[in-house]
Amino acid sequence: MKVHFWGTQGSLPAPFTASIIREKVFRALEAAQGKQLDSADAINQFIDEELPFSVGGTYGSNTACIQVDNPGGAYMLCDCGSGLRDFGLSLVRAGLAKTPATFHIFMSHLHWDHLQGFPFFVPAFVKGNKIIIHTYHEQTEACFREQMRPPVFPVPFDALGADIEFDVQEPGTPYNIEGFEITSIEQNHPGISYGYRFSKGGKVAVYSTDSEHKHDAYEENYPFLDFFRDADLLIFDAQYTMADATFTKANWGHSSNVMGVELAARAGVKTLAIFHHEPTSSDQALDEFLFNTRMYCNIYHQEAGKKLGPELYPKKIILAYDGLDIEV
Ligand SMILES: [Zn+2]
Ligand SMILES: [Zn+2]
Repeated sequence: MKVHFWGTQGSLPAPFTASIIREKVFRALEAAQGKQLDSADAINQFIDEELPFSVGGTYGSNTACIQVDNPGGAYMLCDCGSGLRDFGLSLVRAGLAKTPATFHIFMSHLHWDHLQGFPFFVPAFVKGNKIIIHTYHEQTEACFREQMRPPVFPVPFDALGADIEFDVQEPGTPYNIEGFEITSIEQNHPGISYGYRFSKGGKVAVYSTDSEHKHDAYEENYPFLDFFRDADLLIFDAQYTMADATFTKANWGHSSNVMGVELAARAGVKTLAIFHHEPTSSDQALDEFLFNTRMYCNIYHQEAGKKLGPELYPKKIILAYDGLDIEV
């Protein structure tokens, strides 16, 4: 199973300024001083192996949208953040925008950072395409229409060429689509959100964004442990530090990196992907956040590892970024 990240930021897109790019260029040139970078291979190797990701790359600026790869079948996506626009443009660039296709989109919830890419999703304008929006929120269609109603948007929803269907189900209803078994869980978030667990061919990827785990997460039978159980990949909303999640931003509907490690370790998750990044964090701050999360995981394994059995999880912790592909 392969997962592609089109948008990973939380709350709102967070694009760069010229001064941020300048700072990256400055740090790269500073690090390059005295190195033999006289070929394209040497330069690429230097970028990939010696520069921190915050200098040689970026964690991105688009809001939530991920794709679960389904070669030869319908497109499988979660959420319509601004990353959805880039997904649509990738089809245009690949010459696929005019080929009729089916898109299944699973909605976590209706906050604007999870809807705002849809009015810019090129395949929605193309006749012959079918888009099925799977949701447990009754107001989904109204929200999609509202964000395209004048005077806030020039093109009304009814002008879209694609056949767009809203599949509103009772919360908890599982799906079996394109060979994927998809189950869901209700999450603690203002207005309620839902996590999705995709299983196919013995592989499992869980998309769990906009979800606040409180103190009951430490209970033995916490329901998310089963939902995350043995996942090959867990995409987890860790927008906050432990201090923010516990004090200043308690009840804002998001969780911490520490909680991500705690739940991934107990549920036997192989790869923990931190997601829904705080938009005020710089790339450098996110590098440090990842470093601290891995450090905490090592400490957690030393302290609590003995209780967890011979195998320690998560095996790997990453910070998702726009454009990242993960094969699980
Ligand atoms: Zn969000
Ligand atoms: Zn939200």
